Amino acid sequence: MSELSTELRAAIRTIPDYPKPGILFRDITTLLGQPRAFRRAVDGLVHPYAGLQVSKVAGIEARGFILGGAMAHQLSAGFVPIRKKGKLPHETVRVAYSLEYGLDEMEMHKDAVAEGESVILVDDLIATGGTAEGAVKLLRQMGANIVAACFVIDLPDLGGRKKLENLGVQVRTLISYE
Ligand code: AMP
Repeated sequence: MSELSTELRAAIRTIPDYPKPGILFRDITTLLGQPRAFRRAVDGLVHPYAGLQVSKVAGIEARGFILGGAMAHQLSAGFVPIRKKGKLPHETVRVAYSLEYGLDEMEMHKDAVAEGESVILVDDLIATGGTAEGAVKLLRQMGANIVAACFVIDLPDLGGRKKLENLGVQVRTLISYE
């Protein structure tokens, strides 16, 4: 295990049986609250892409907004929110997606990304990959070139990374919980 992943793992809190019995919820609010861990997580996510032409970072509501805003600043890129349905005020594209615990729909503004723009997708955690797959569909529908999808945490047993890789998306994660 790398020194970075040891540090980040120590900063993440695990809550058993939240939001449902049997789920081990990986709570990154404790990581976000620690200045050094937060900075190191953001640096760790963006570092392979520094110096590349990344035009936008797209963050998945809600924890992807916090990481994505910081990453966009670091990369001098714009930020695009991918939100749960009904939250965005202008014309949107919408997709249904499945979660580890349920079904939902997400949206993005139609004019948030232009054809051919290079975009990095981010969320705090990838589990089954249903959420990230939905976001990939939205971005591709608008013609985005997805440079990578980044997550602090991977739950590899749930297959999300493989799902995205099978869609031709490069995946970057910093910690994994087997
Ligand atoms: P999935 O679509 O199954 O890959 O689930 C990923 C989304 O659900 C992300 O937005 C995560 O924040 C959230 N999520 C799923 N499982 C967990 C978990 N065990 N701990 C914390 N967040 C989770």
